[in-house]
Amino acid sequence: MEIGRRTMARIGFIGVGNMGGPMARNLLKAGHALKAFDLSEKLLGTMKDAGAEIAGSAAEAARDVDVLVTMLPAGPQVRKVYEGEVLSQAAPGTLLVDCSTIDVETARAVAAAAGDKGFAMVDAPVSGGVGGAEAGTLTFMVGGPEEAFEAARPYLEQMGKTIVHTGGAGNGQAAKMCNNMMLGIQMISVAEAFVLAEKLGLDHQKLFDVSSKASGQCWSLTTYCPVPGPVPTSPANRDYQPGFTTAMMLKDLKLSQDAAEGFEAETVLGREAMALYQRFSEGGNDAVDFSGIIKMIRESTE
Ligand code: NAD
Repeated sequence: MEIGRRTMARIGFIGVGNMGGPMARNLLKAGHALKAFDLSEKLLGTMKDAGAEIAGSAAEAARDVDVLVTMLPAGPQVRKVYEGEVLSQAAPGTLLVDCSTIDVETARAVAAAAGDKGFAMVDAPVSGGVGGAEAGTLTFMVGGPEEAFEAARPYLEQMGKTIVHTGGAGNGQAAKMCNNMMLGIQMISVAEAFVLAEKLGLDHQKLFDVSSKASGQCWSLTTYCPVPGPVPTSPANRDYQPGFTTAMMLKDLKLSQDAAEGFEAETVLGREAMALYQRFSEGGNDAVDFSGIIKMIRESTE
């Protein structure tokens, strides 16, 4: 059976928030007919203005389409939407693409339920943030059978730049949580180094000039430096407006720690990073960029 592949396809899109909205608009720009559903009437209004048809429910968005894309907050919403509506309403042969960031176990359970009903499905979480969603430069980490990956690839290429098949069902989510655990730990390591440098009388720019060319270099330093100055585009230069919020980072670190516990991996620094982001979040910083954690680290050493 051919799954979902067409030049101009009919696409259902459920969850058109900060990420899903611009992703859906890029599919519209690519010439597809798009049917959108979200719990927010306001967001549906903006999708209508962009040329989408509006569905009255998730079930309606899933009916009579070649491809269904979901971009929902977390595992419970994904399970509810698929098991409650999509799997009973989508036509045979509909390709299912979940781009939400969720736990591996839910991703595998939903993919198995989809497989039992004969659907091809991939989990395809993204990296790159709202800017990447708008520019169509997202990185997709895709878990699922080869055939489903190949069917999804043309659509993912219209929303992103780097598309990596990371293995079977759930492995997109596995890659996403491993990557973001590295990111969370590395941001704290860079922030601690800058705070230590301040104590030692070492200028921010000088530390940057050395470490961005030496063995301490990483994305948190060279692209997203948590002090103002060295990287003009980093959120530190706009009082830590996101970017990538602390709430999102904490969500991803919790996913990685739940997985570490469930799959018996020892992730000492991942656990510690989660505890530090939890504290930062409890200080009222959920909406602050995650690099703003340097303020808490600085305050706790004063
Ligand atoms: P968001 O809250 O802006 O969008 C989620 C949308 O889903 C909302 O508009 C909400 O109304 C809708 N929704 C919730 N339950 C629904 C349901 N049952 N039926 C239909 N619609 C429903 O969140 P976002 O920032 O777009 O993030 C979406 C996903 O992408 C999350 O899993 C997040 O972790 C991941 N992500 C976000 C970023 C980022 O920078 N924002 C980056 C990478 C990955």
